[in-house]
Amino acid sequence: MASTDTGCDVFISHASEDKDGFVRALAVALRNLGVSVWYDEFSLSVGDSLSESIDKGLAGAQYGIVVISKAFMGKPWPKRELRGLVAKAVDAGNRKIILPIWHGVRREDVLAFSPPLADVVALNTQMLDAGQMSLRLLEEVRPDLYKSRPPEELRSIANGDDAEELRSAIDEIRTELEGVKDQLSEYQCPVCGANLAERAIVPIDDPHTLDCWFERYECGYESKDQIMTRPCPSDPKYPNPKDYELSCVEVSEGRWLCSAKPLTYMASLVLVWSGEGDTREEAEADVCRRLPQRQTSPPPEIGRIARLSEAACQTNAESQIAEGKANGNRRSSSRR
Ligand SMILES: [Zn+2]
Repeated sequence: MASTDTGCDVFISHASEDKDGFVRALAVALRNLGVSVWYDEFSLSVGDSLSESIDKGLAGAQYGIVVISKAFMGKPWPKRELRGLVAKAVDAGNRKIILPIWHGVRREDVLAFSPPLADVVALNTQMLDAGQMSLRLLEEVRPDLYKSRPPEELRSIANGDDAEELRSAIDEIRTELEGVKDQLSEYQCPVCGANLAERAIVPIDDPHTLDCWFERYECGYESKDQIMTRPCPSDPKYPNPKDYELSCVEVSEGRWLCSAKPLTYMASLVLVWSGEGDTREEAEADVCRRLPQRQTSPPPEIGRIARLSEAACQTNAESQIAEGKANGNRRSSSRR
């Protein structure tokens, strides 16, 4: 039977003490199976009226489940309330509307509590766990759903195994994203991840040589046909001032020129303009200002995310949060 327009498939009447141990797990399993469940409002405390609660539940739900436990029996239910419960638990017209569950109680306990209630067929948590019980209840309250899938599949749905499937689907998407990232990396500096700033075809003045692609990235990295022609400032091999030899000459009276001669291959890729000055020291100082200095930047991925959030993060505290997120992202993507 499908849910009514007015409400739920079932409500679960229970002693508040049993929520953590059993009722929540049952409600979750039923919901996983597609049953609409009402249960928080039917948590009974001392002084609540059982029949009022059940009448309220039945006004909005097709079926009521009553969890009969030591805690439930420990409440001072008036006799008439229990009679009402029993009456609703036995066939009403052609169907049962109250489905009792014995939770941690034996037949003797129920017999002592309310003899008529002990005769009502009940499910028992000593025999079935919440997942198994949810299937038995599904058969009763939503036979349409019960018949819609093989029992094995229903069992795994009740146990929330589809959450596991969802997780693996997410992992698949993550793998795809990694692939997209690899494609994107074609347009990012291979060292620091800075964006491509310029891409152009460089014509070569030689009919036997093909034109080549020149690329320049925001950090300063440059390449021709994917071969580095200027290193990224975050590259550990990026030149430092000690990789240049300064030589000064007095080109004319009181006019000095200082040039920086690269000493390494990497230094040769970062050319430095000569310096000028009225004295040797001035010319040296002029060129020293332009000598390259390696950037000790954070690891590429953090750098990239930090750059993205730079505009949004004005304060130190905010950028720390961004860095924390960046770390979190890295952790989750490496967990594959
Ligand atoms: Zn770079």
